[in-house]
Amino acid sequence: MTHAIENLIPEYLRGLPVYVPGRPIEDVERELNIHAIKVASNENPLGPSPMAMEAVKRILGESNRYPDGGTHRLREKLAGIFGVDSDEIFIGLGSSELIDLASRVLLRPGKTGVTSEGSYAPFSIAIRANGGELELVGLRDFAYDLEEIAQVVTQDTGVVYLANPNNPTGTAFSGAELEKFLAGVPATTMVVLDEAYIHYADRPDMPKSVDLFRKHKNLLILRTFSKVYGLAGLRIGFGIGEKHLVTAMNKLRTPFNVSGIAQVAALAALDDGAHVARSIESNRTERARLFGAMKEMGMRPAPSETNFIFVNVGPEAAKTCDELLHMGVIVRPLGWMGLPEAIRVSVGTVEENGKFLSAMAQVLEKRAGKSELTAR
Ligand SMILES: *Cc1c(COP(=O)(O)O)cnc(C)c1O
Repeated sequence: MTHAIENLIPEYLRGLPVYVPGRPIEDVERELNIHAIKVASNENPLGPSPMAMEAVKRILGESNRYPDGGTHRLREKLAGIFGVDSDEIFIGLGSSELIDLASRVLLRPGKTGVTSEGSYAPFSIAIRANGGELELVGLRDFAYDLEEIAQVVTQDTGVVYLANPNNPTGTAFSGAELEKFLAGVPATTMVVLDEAYIHYADRPDMPKSVDLFRKHKNLLILRTFSKVYGLAGLRIGFGIGEKHLVTAMNKLRTPFNVSGIAQVAALAALDDGAHVARSIESNRTERARLFGAMKEMGMRPAPSETNFIFVNVGPEAAKTCDELLHMGVIVRPLGWMGLPEAIRVSVGTVEENGKFLSAMAQVLEKRAGKSELTAR
């Protein structure tokens, strides 16, 4: 009987990998009976925007009502901020929903979707789950190889996914590189530009994506409230894209995809410039501290434009994550993302980063002790 049910699942879905989320902190604490910190999912360690929390408290009592399924106020506000039409804005259940909807609209058997190896796993899943053929291009120096990606794009390519800055490697490409890329791909190929970490990027030549969107209507820009705004748990994100695409995505989404609480929180968070500034500043300082301390320990962290640090630790990466876990520090192993020798550490609070660094130092000391023994 179970076998018969399994046969109902289309072949292309059976082969899909399962997305592996970071382990919940309560889980780890219960299992190991320790106090743990989670620096595994790139959340805002300072918490949600206080203004968003206040706004949420005020409307909790209206939870018997359906939310505004058209997300009018939020779309109007974002349209004003970005200087686009409110019909060019799509509000989603996190940017995750937009990643999937883009492929649902644009792909079908016979179409291909392109992204990079060593990038955000939901891109590949969206392409394959919607019947497209997945083409993966290798990373170059842990960054997107835009020239190679442009090479593999054909008239049959419905969508290209680019995360800038990239998760999990933390690298970013410049505005000039993106412009060259857009000039080199057909106007019929949608380029989905996921800017989840854009607030944290410090390089001065980052793309001005909304300006590029005015020239290139095959650009779909994704932003999220999950990172710098600290609202990951409320599930809300948005996209800026061409009207016909936005309309098609609206037809496919569920009618009340985003809760009223999430909408109100997002509106308030956009006004909370102080929280955004505080979050960026704390990240900048602590990212530099983590980077410096890791180098001093003899590690080779990759320079990061994000709120996390990617570091190759060698064949013992999975073991390292496990040892850190047992010391109450949850980091992200990347083997399931095709990077078996690397780990990803989110930039936490001052205390959290201190705890990670001292646990990491202990792991490295233990390793060094062992290799000394075998050398003797
Ligand atoms: C964290 C992250 C997001 C955010 O996803 P949500 O569904 O908005 O929480 C999007 N893209 C990338 C690459 C991310 O790392």
